[in-house]
Amino acid sequence: MRKVYNFSAGPAVLPEPVLQEAADEMLDYKGSGMSVMEISHRSSLFQSIIDETEQALRTLMKIPDDYVVLFLQGGTSLQFSMIPMNFMRNGKADYILTGYWAKKAYQEAKRYGEIHVVASSEGDNFSYIPDCSDLEISQDSDYVYMCENNTIYGTKFKVCPNSKGKILINDISSCFLSEPMNVSEYGMLFGGVQKNLAPAGLVIAIIRKDLISEKVLPNTPTMLQYKTHADKKSLYNTPPTYNIYIVGKVIKWIQSLGGLEKMKEINEKKAAILYDYLDSSSLFYGLAEKDSRSLMNVTFCTKSDAINADFVKAAEQNGIISIKGHRAIGGMRASLYNAMPMEGVQHLVGFMQEFENRGGHYDE
Ligand SMILES: *Cc1c(COP(=O)(O)O)cnc(C)c1O
Repeated sequence: MRKVYNFSAGPAVLPEPVLQEAADEMLDYKGSGMSVMEISHRSSLFQSIIDETEQALRTLMKIPDDYVVLFLQGGTSLQFSMIPMNFMRNGKADYILTGYWAKKAYQEAKRYGEIHVVASSEGDNFSYIPDCSDLEISQDSDYVYMCENNTIYGTKFKVCPNSKGKILINDISSCFLSEPMNVSEYGMLFGGVQKNLAPAGLVIAIIRKDLISEKVLPNTPTMLQYKTHADKKSLYNTPPTYNIYIVGKVIKWIQSLGGLEKMKEINEKKAAILYDYLDSSSLFYGLAEKDSRSLMNVTFCTKSDAINADFVKAAEQNGIISIKGHRAIGGMRASLYNAMPMEGVQHLVGFMQEFENRGGHYDE
């Protein structure tokens, strides 16, 4: 049993059995006498780790053979530049703005071409996912961009936008491996691993092979071309070896629970505990519209900033860590990633109930 429940949005909680296994192997990986951290990325020992991790991800997500899996660096944020640099052939793209990260991606893309916002919920402080069934996609648009799960606002797409035949590119950082996905609906899926898969420092990109080519914007650095990494199977330079090793272990852990269908079922149960309470509480209320609610990031609030602050403080004293909302939205946010145990959510809701019963404060 760990001492606290960590509700951080990222870096975030990892499965305890994975951390335990990593600890057991820390000083001597498979009889090599070395830690995984110390092994050459050109060694056969590491080659097995990266091959097995990729294969496990392909199996878990049912990734079709005409997609590459790339292990990259620079955070999710660097993808905001790499995407336009690699895919803008007509100099046009369409962006769906559903939150902070989608907007960041849009702002970056504007440096490279003409960007249309085809849907946005910014007017209502990103509290919902707009209807994306009939978007005004530009004729010569190179791609349509979306962010599936909006980490800061606590919203998530429930149906895939209709991109009208254009390539759909999706930032899945905060819902990565939280439920099954149909990979072939997208030209590219990508996400940082620090929300649901591993320590910070690695981004996984899943890209349809025919989209990767030398036709990138002029002066795109070698390191920022997908082709560089695809040609060298993510070993053009030193990849974040330890993170890749942890991703492999996290995937095995998800498989041991029953795969992504089962993961989704567990995540729905966990989120329901908190949402049901929020809907019945007279102190706390949810910030995202009901039909747009995220399973991974639950945003909520009370009517008073002072009560919010008291709650965050008292929660921390009760083993509930990193529950404060992002400054862009305020209030509270509980991130319920795959590794958050059911008991963690129960503990949180129990504490919220007690806080409410005591009239919106918590004095010892
Ligand atoms: C956390 C997050 C990012 C930013 O990731 P970095 O690795 O810090 O650049 C981008 N998009 C989404 C959806 C996120 O949750």
